[in-house]
Amino acid sequence: MDEHEFKKIVFDGFREEEVVELASRLIKIPSVNPPGDTDEIAAFVKSYLEEEGVSVELCEPAEKKVNLIAEIGEKDSDRVLVLNGHLDVVPIGDRSRWKFDPFSGEIRDGYLYGRGASDMKGGLAGIIYAFKKLVKFEDRLKGKLKLVCVADEETGGTYGAAYLVEKKKALGSSVLIAEPTGMDLINIGEKGAIWAKIVVKGVPGHGSLSPFIGDNAIVKSVNLIRELMKITEIRAELPKDLLDVAEYSRNLLKKSVSSEASKAIDHPTINFGIIRGGTKVNVIPDRCELEIDVRVPIGLSATEITSKIKKIVERYGEIEFASAGEPNYTSPNSEIVKVVEKNVREIIRIDPKPFLEWASSDARHFRKLGIPTIHYGPAEMEGIHGYNERVKVEDLVNAARVYLGAAIDYLT
Ligand SMILES: [Zn+2]
Repeated sequence: MDEHEFKKIVFDGFREEEVVELASRLIKIPSVNPPGDTDEIAAFVKSYLEEEGVSVELCEPAEKKVNLIAEIGEKDSDRVLVLNGHLDVVPIGDRSRWKFDPFSGEIRDGYLYGRGASDMKGGLAGIIYAFKKLVKFEDRLKGKLKLVCVADEETGGTYGAAYLVEKKKALGSSVLIAEPTGMDLINIGEKGAIWAKIVVKGVPGHGSLSPFIGDNAIVKSVNLIRELMKITEIRAELPKDLLDVAEYSRNLLKKSVSSEASKAIDHPTINFGIIRGGTKVNVIPDRCELEIDVRVPIGLSATEITSKIKKIVERYGEIEFASAGEPNYTSPNSEIVKVVEKNVREIIRIDPKPFLEWASSDARHFRKLGIPTIHYGPAEMEGIHGYNERVKVEDLVNAARVYLGAAIDYLT
C-alpha cells in the first residue's frame, strides 16, 4: 500500500459528526483561566483516548494545572510531529452580554457556540480526533506522533508548554499548534513581549505651591511616557526570508484594523496599561507607578529594547521587569509550513498564506529551541476573548482533516 492509498483508507474512517461532538463536549467542561483548573477536561480527554487503547500521561506541575501527553508510532524516532493545543479558556466576562449559554456547546445553523469554540476547543478537538484516527495505524508511521494538550496557556504557560518543553516532555522535530488563525492563514512568527513596572519618585509638598515647590511624580511620569513612546518609532529590519510575509501581514492589519495599526508588524508597540499615583488633590504626589506592555517585532531584540527602556527610566525612577520574551519565527520554507499548505490546498481548495502575529503564544517556548512551529486552526475572530464566541462547523471539520492529512504526510 503506498502513501496515497494509506491516506485514503485513514480518511475513509473520518466522521465529521464525531469531531463536532467532541468539540461540543470540550466546551461543556469549563476550564476558565483564571483559575485555570484543567483536571476535569484533561481527565475527559484521557478517557476519550484510552477508549482507543492509547496510554496517556498526565502531568501536573502545579495543583490542578493538568497537562496531557500521548504518543504513537516509532518509539525511538527523532522524527516527531507534535500536535499541540491548550485546554484552558479565558473567562466569559459579563454573562449578560452573551446571547447564549457560553458552556452549552450548542450546534445550530452551521455553527458551534460557546467559550473556546474558536480559542481553541474547536482546534483542540481537531488534533485530538486526528491523533485518535491514527492510533490503529501506528505501525505505518515513520516516526512519532505526539499529542500535547496543555494547561496555563492563557496566563503565560509557566505550568503548561514552558514546563513541558523544559522537562523535554513536549519536544519534537516540528510542532503544529491548533490555535485560531482562520482557514486561509498560517501563523509562522510572533512578536516578543516585555512587561515591566516602573516607580517614579518625587518630592511631596503643599498643592497650593505647586509647581514652584516639590517635585510632582505624576508630572514627571507624563514626561517619561512621552520619552518612552519614542521607542515605537524604531523600525525593525526584517530577515530576508520574511519580507513577503511581513508585507502580507501589514496589509492584513491594514484591512482588518487600520493603516496606522499595520505599523505594529515592524515597530515596537508600548501600552501604558496601569498608572497609580497621588494620595490627595492638594498634596504634591511623591510616587507614581506605571505598568507597561512592550511588544518587540522580529528583527529587533527584546534585550536591546529592554536596555533602551532602562536607560530612559533611570533618569526618572526605577524599573522592574516581570518578563521579557524574544520575538520568534519559523521559516516560511520549513517542512511543516509546506506540509500544512499542501493539505489546505488539497482539502479546502484554498491557498493559505503564512503571516506574522502581533500577540504572543506558546509557540515561543518551542521556537526558542529552534523547533519549527506554526499555528493553524479554525477561527471566528470576533468572539475570541470577547462575547458570543463561536466557530463554523465546516471550518472545524476541515481543520481536523488538515491535521490528519499533515500528520500522515509528515510521518509516512
Ligand atoms: Zn489560544
